[in-house]
Amino acid sequence: MLSRPGRAGAESGLEDRGTSRFLARRTRNTAKNLVRGLRCWYIPYLKSRYYSDRFRPLLSYLFTDWKCNVNCWYCFTWNNKVKGMTPETARKSIDWLHGVGCRVVAIMGGEPLLRKKFILDTIKYGSDRDFFMYLPTNGILMDRDFIERAGASGVAAINLAVDKIKVAPGLPKSFDRIKSQFKHLVRLREKYGYIIFFNINITSENTEDVKELTRIAREHDIGTDYHMNEHPVIEQKHYKYLDQGFWISEEHFRKTDELIDWLVERNVEGWPMVNSAEHLRAMKSFVRGKGRPWDCRAGINSLVIRLDGTLAPCFELYSTDRDWGRVGAPAFDHARLRETKKECNPKCLSTCNYQVYHYYNTYSRGLEWVFKHIYRGVSREEDGRRKAADADGRGKGKGEEARA
Ligand code: SF4
Ligand code: SF4
Repeated sequence: MLSRPGRAGAESGLEDRGTSRFLARRTRNTAKNLVRGLRCWYIPYLKSRYYSDRFRPLLSYLFTDWKCNVNCWYCFTWNNKVKGMTPETARKSIDWLHGVGCRVVAIMGGEPLLRKKFILDTIKYGSDRDFFMYLPTNGILMDRDFIERAGASGVAAINLAVDKIKVAPGLPKSFDRIKSQFKHLVRLREKYGYIIFFNINITSENTEDVKELTRIAREHDIGTDYHMNEHPVIEQKHYKYLDQGFWISEEHFRKTDELIDWLVERNVEGWPMVNSAEHLRAMKSFVRGKGRPWDCRAGINSLVIRLDGTLAPCFELYSTDRDWGRVGAPAFDHARLRETKKECNPKCLSTCNYQVYHYYNTYSRGLEWVFKHIYRGVSREEDGRRKAADADGRGKGKGEEARA
């Protein structure tokens, strides 16, 4: 007989691990995420390499809003006066992406949950067309009802942006503020099979919080991805906090280096992180203004769709006044991209585009990326089996062996 959930688990409100129902769901979700990973990431990746002379983006960022319910001082993509994307533009964008072979849509903001119905409709529209629909949010407006609906709409990944444990001036995305939302999210993941990440921005003011958030993620078997707090790459006329953005300067190098070393160690140990160890290591030289050039594939394998359906190569160049085309008529001329990147690349360590570059280069790395998307499922499956066997009294020796 399998054990009942432990008191600690029940009190934390998290999953009833070790029950046969839980394990069956987890196995089903692991298989589902593997199939989805291959279908939405790896097959489009293989095709983009095969048809390398065509425009075949792997990853798209659909900006639905610039409005936000909080104000992070480092953030230059919020403006509460700007009107959001229309449902027609969202649907048209997804249809066009489908036609050019892309199967991953990351909804971006602003805070997408300011328009819950629109976001749920967009997720459903994309997942019905076989897209990997990825939802980043600060989580503050998320509730159980929304999670149930997002799960039923087919959301593939939810990325919770959180920088601090406790709220601080200018850094409002705190874990304390979204604890109950987080519990719902974790509790319902086996029902719907989505994966969860913490999205953490490393600033001058949160090095200890980053570690603590990483440990919380590990404790709950969720992934993490890290960004180095970057100055805007181009001028952002609307942005008012250039002097208060918690940028990392010389006086912060020691503690930032120590944090990065700690993250690299965890990465090498196999804690599930979106960032490659190489990207984390590159952060050290980047903050010192000595970043090495990297082969950014923005505008080739990734792109941004702006609120009005026009295009940009990346998030950092959202506000550029250059014309990169629009949905249905891209204008990502390679020579022009190369010229642009000569200027912006030394000032940029974009987590998203660095990973595209890192994993794009070799077929095995491309596959590794897919496994990153199911790693949590696999590791938790093994862990769950072990725990179930331990609780059953059948696997005591094995469990002890595994912990040794
Ligand atoms: S929650 Fe996100 S969109 Fe809103 S201000 Fe912070 S970083 Fe910007
Ligand atoms: S290096 Fe790439 S991601 Fe960074 S600003 Fe330039 S085009 Fe954008």
